[in-house]
Amino acid sequence: MSGDGTAELSSLSPPLLARLAKLGIGREADLLLHLPLRYEDETRITPLAEVLPGTPVQVEVQSLSCEVAYRPRRQLLARVRDDSGALLVRLLNFYPSQQKQYAPGARLRLFGEVRDGHFGPEMVHPRAHSVVPGQDLPQALTPVYPTTAGLSQATLRRLIAAALARETVAETLPAELLRRHALMPIGEALRLLHQPPAALGEEALAEANRDAWRRVRFDELLAQQLSLRRAHAARRAQTAPVLAAAGDYSARLIKALSFRLTGAQQRCWQEIRADLGQAHPMQRLLQGDVGSGKTVVAALALLQAVDSGWQGALMAPTEILAEQHRLKLAAWLAPLGVELAWLSGSLKRAQKKAMLAAVGEGRARIVVGTHALIEAEVDFPRLGLVVVDEQHRFGVRQRLALRAKGGSPHQLMMSATPIPRTLAMSYYADLDVSTIDEMPPGRSPVLTKLVADSRRGEVVARVRAACAEGRQAYWVCPLIEESETLQLQTALETHQRLGRELPELQVGLVHGRLKAEEKSAMMAAFVAGEVQLLVCTTVIEVGVDVANATLMVIEHAERFGLAQLHQLRGRVGRGAEASACILLFAQPLSQAARERLKIIFENNDGFAIAAADLHLRGPGEFIGARQSGAPLLRYADLDDAALIEAASTAAAEMEHDPAAVEAHLDRWLGGREDLLKA
Ligand code: ADP
Ligand code: MG
Repeated sequence: MSGDGTAELSSLSPPLLARLAKLGIGREADLLLHLPLRYEDETRITPLAEVLPGTPVQVEVQSLSCEVAYRPRRQLLARVRDDSGALLVRLLNFYPSQQKQYAPGARLRLFGEVRDGHFGPEMVHPRAHSVVPGQDLPQALTPVYPTTAGLSQATLRRLIAAALARETVAETLPAELLRRHALMPIGEALRLLHQPPAALGEEALAEANRDAWRRVRFDELLAQQLSLRRAHAARRAQTAPVLAAAGDYSARLIKALSFRLTGAQQRCWQEIRADLGQAHPMQRLLQGDVGSGKTVVAALALLQAVDSGWQGALMAPTEILAEQHRLKLAAWLAPLGVELAWLSGSLKRAQKKAMLAAVGEGRARIVVGTHALIEAEVDFPRLGLVVVDEQHRFGVRQRLALRAKGGSPHQLMMSATPIPRTLAMSYYADLDVSTIDEMPPGRSPVLTKLVADSRRGEVVARVRAACAEGRQAYWVCPLIEESETLQLQTALETHQRLGRELPELQVGLVHGRLKAEEKSAMMAAFVAGEVQLLVCTTVIEVGVDVANATLMVIEHAERFGLAQLHQLRGRVGRGAEASACILLFAQPLSQAARERLKIIFENNDGFAIAAADLHLRGPGEFIGARQSGAPLLRYADLDDAALIEAASTAAAEMEHDPAAVEAHLDRWLGGREDLLKA
């Protein structure tokens, strides 16, 4: 972080460099941003007589004796004392050098916890170093850093202290901004965090530590905001096809629908349509709770592409979901004479060839499918719009691969898992968001019940009663994440058992191992009402839409994540009849499971659930580090909306100072920034 901030660590050995790299340290500047987890106080010496058991302390002692004992295993026992008392030191593994260190008469400083042993107070494996009488004590608290196997605290401390001594930490922010946001200068903050001066006293130190962390978090959030602004600018500089046709097709679809669009759907459609008419690629998220009607909005966007002389692609994460989209779109598009192609992994070779030809020659104007859409052999001559359903279930790479099928097509992502506000302000700040915040009319709220699985019999009776009234039900099998084989076995057993318990019902089964045709045949039978109770694994998680199904039972609900439970529950309550979702749980419940069930029981609103989920799991888990590609925040957390907002404002204010922006991004993101452009 000297002048250019790029000093290398090249003098270090390759194994050490590899270990540092594991911690994200590739440059000297990165060392300074590797911040302590906590501190140990070696600035004071506590007399042995005043040591409290279980509290880490430093003592200064003289060794009285040192012997190797076998009781029962080989260990080193040293008796040590100071003016106020005595102590036994026990080392269970030791080197000959340590035996020397504790030789009778030697003076040492020991850091560790004292506990009561068989033979009075003892310290096990204290950190020890030899001293001469009167040797100076350190002035600063000793930092404890996050580290990795094979890299000792001592080495890290030495490297970081050396970097701190060598480098001057340049201030990247204008003084005016520091003042306005009451921020500590970054050089001061980093020094304080690495080497807190004990002389300040406990209270002042705690306050300084808070201020220093605030500055660090602010800087990290600022780097994120700056980087997102860059990505945004880069996107606006790209050229996308202008999809600004008058909208004949979309108008005809709206007229032909058996329902009226809700106000929210209309608003979202207008937002999307305005974006499509621009000459730079749209990057918009369409979010709306399960059942809010995102598909028809996507269909309108796809038709707008067609109307403007381009192709549109819709990608869904599972075969069942893609199939449902295909059926729905086919019904909507047929009257308009728009040709639809279908690409999935399960197509026969000849069918696939025909589909590829239809897409490649531009005859098929809209293409629906699974991951099969991004295979190399798929060639779109005029791809204008890409729609990705359940976007969080795809990785960044997959989304990029589909987008890369066109020049820079418009992109619409759909999700039933709403993004909480702070996440939208940070990780997703580059995304424009449209929200369908209104359900189609005539839906009835779903009643959620928590039932201990000891009362499973009553739940089976309830299924019987609902089906006797002509309703249908889902029964979701317990989730077994560890093993697909066990998951399948459980599904088969659950199906058999329910078949025995409810002999008067047609009980169907869908699970992940069925062939695509088998799955769709089973779904068709359920839609037609020939199957009354559908036993399923989470393959029905998304997309399934049967208004007559009014009851859902989820077994071992405690094993499911919040988003999953909410989406599953969204499968019922699609018609005017009252619906219920019964969450069977097994006791004892873990604290985390109890919290999840409480949240899902108390909330019907996807936003509230997503916010609670973010709070419980943190952003890394929430977006899935693998999936997002965005560098995760190391120090800032998303609970501090005010700080995120301040960073966002500051990022805008820094616009006129590209050198400062560059310096700040380089410090915080170094070589990692490119991933954010996804
Ligand atoms: P999701 O947002 O979960 O993907 P869908 O698009 O599958 O929801 O829509 C759920 C159901 O609601 C579908 O059967 C769809 O045709 C229907 N639907 C969509 N919009 C409306 C509306 N405005 N009025 C009535 N029904 C609607
Ligand atoms: Mg959907």
